[in-house]
Amino acid sequence: MPTIVALVKHVPDTWSTKSLEDDHTLDRTSVDNVIDEVNEYSVEQALRLRDDNPDAGYKVVALTMGPAQADEALRKALAMGADDAVLVSDDSLAGADALSTAWTLNAALNKLDDVQLITAGTEASDASTGLLTGLLAEYRQLPALTGLHKVELAGGTLRGTRDDARGTWELEAPLPAIVSVNDKSDKPRFPNFKGLMAAKKAEITTFSLADLGIEAIAPTTSVSAAEKRPPRTAGEVISEPNPQDAAKKIADFLAAKNLI
Ligand SMILES: Cc1cc2nc3c(=O)[nH]c(=O)nc-3n(C[C@H](O)[C@H](O)[C@H](O)COP(=O)(O)OP(=O)(O)OC[C@H]3O[C@@H](n4cnc5c(N)ncnc54)[C@H](O)[C@@H]3O)c2cc1C
Repeated sequence: MPTIVALVKHVPDTWSTKSLEDDHTLDRTSVDNVIDEVNEYSVEQALRLRDDNPDAGYKVVALTMGPAQADEALRKALAMGADDAVLVSDDSLAGADALSTAWTLNAALNKLDDVQLITAGTEASDASTGLLTGLLAEYRQLPALTGLHKVELAGGTLRGTRDDARGTWELEAPLPAIVSVNDKSDKPRFPNFKGLMAAKKAEITTFSLADLGIEAIAPTTSVSAAEKRPPRTAGEVISEPNPQDAAKKIADFLAAKNLI
């Protein structure tokens, strides 16, 4: 059966106070972890493209790499309507960087039948490298349509729209392909009660690295130092009664900072 894989990441809740361990990895144990919000959007795209193409017979499989508790992110995707879920979990993956994450996810994708489309978020809210889509595209030699806010699929052709500082881009690629979407794409659906109950009890396929027939790539990158952003200082208030004087002061201020 052709498969759409929705990649989801289990991350510290956006509203929690995030802190780093002594080795600068994220402290994931003292905070609530949830499905990354952008992945609710990428799961929504996977479900919508499945539902818009009933004749193609796609099934949606949610896939994550993470600790055992990352099954919560998968259960959210199942509650939204994903058909199946796969967790890759292995102690030797602790501290994985983007390269080892992509290597591992690629091996998990090889275990799935007829993967036609992979949906991901543009960037994760915790590490925010935005590398995963490109790395997987390279490993799998797939066209990558990235940073989309609109995706359509018809007759085996994927079309997407990306807005950036230079304008609007209409992109197109044949399947199989990988896409990343942002939070300007369709609003994620709310799971209904039936979906939530079914997701609670659903069987999640779990792979170790031995199951995937690979060894972990040792992380090639690490965070060597991190500092908290200094608190914001009060801004300068310009209260010239004459608008022309005020405008000049603003222009001088911006010019002094090389902003104009
Ligand atoms: C503070 C901090 C800084 C870091 N900096 C770096 C760094 O500079 N370089 C580096 O290589 N690593 C870094 N890491 C490690 C980082 O957590 C992993 O590399 C991560 O798994 C992949 O990178 P990302 O989350 O930035 O993915 P992104 O590429 O930003 O994620 C894009 C999409 O890929 C999918 N995805 C990402 N991770 C997973 C997953 N585990 N399972 C399933 N789908 C997934 C999701 O759909 C996500 O929306 C850092 C970690 C921390 C805590």
